[in-house]
Amino acid sequence: MIIDAHAHLCSNPGNLDAIAESGRIKQVWLMDVSGCGIKIHSFASEKEILQAAKNYPGFFIPFGYLDLRKTPDDINRLKDAGFAGLKAYRPAKPYDDESYFSFYQRADELNMPILFHTGIVEKCRINEMTGGLSCGPGNMKPSGLAAIAAAFPELIIIGGHLGYPWLEETAHNLYYYPNIYHDLSGYRKDIEWLIKNLDRKCHDGLGLRYFNDKILFATDAICYGNEEGHKEAFKMMDFWELLLETIGQNYYRWGEPAERRKIFFDNAWKLYERFIK
Ligand SMILES: [Zn+2]
Repeated sequence: MIIDAHAHLCSNPGNLDAIAESGRIKQVWLMDVSGCGIKIHSFASEKEILQAAKNYPGFFIPFGYLDLRKTPDDINRLKDAGFAGLKAYRPAKPYDDESYFSFYQRADELNMPILFHTGIVEKCRINEMTGGLSCGPGNMKPSGLAAIAAAFPELIIIGGHLGYPWLEETAHNLYYYPNIYHDLSGYRKDIEWLIKNLDRKCHDGLGLRYFNDKILFATDAICYGNEEGHKEAFKMMDFWELLLETIGQNYYRWGEPAERRKIFFDNAWKLYERFIK
């Protein structure tokens, strides 16, 4: 079984039974980014994401948009509304800007994990989203997560994607911080890097662990809720299962079935058990 730890939902989503009943997916973590008002996609609203989570309890896990233009009280609103986690995307200042720490503190208090987009980001013109956001990736560098992880060691932090072009910063996160994970979705040129780095040891204070203990499978599907999106998501699952099996099992420690399973399921499930209680 698979947990898709970073995905999106389209507006007016349809045929979600096809996903929930495929027999292949245990959970999909749905990231709300409607707060960005991005015009080049038609993402689901908060309401639609919460409705999907309600219709498929325990299957679609809703993450609300962490709007760093608002106040930390908005996080309480999201929690009360039913969001289990948060998604940070396109902030006006770097993630580790001190003015954002009160938001992270609130998320920590409410036991809500935060998935931060890191690295290369879709091009978006200034007038194609709401004001006060950034168009490029400079404020979303993987190294920006380090200070947050140190300040709030109980906070579950997921770096969305692998953070290209700052892959060594991603390695630094995985190596050193017990509470930083990354998902493997997105830019696929960094697959070469991933394959060669999954066997690296962590030194994060939690005993013997390797990078594959901290990588989560994800499609970053844009989007569940329409046929094309579903096709694309299943294609990504096929691709990663085959790639990790055929390359991993012959050449790497992480290719052992139980080690690969951590990426597709165990790592995310362990996190889920922590933030859902
Ligand atoms: Zn995303």
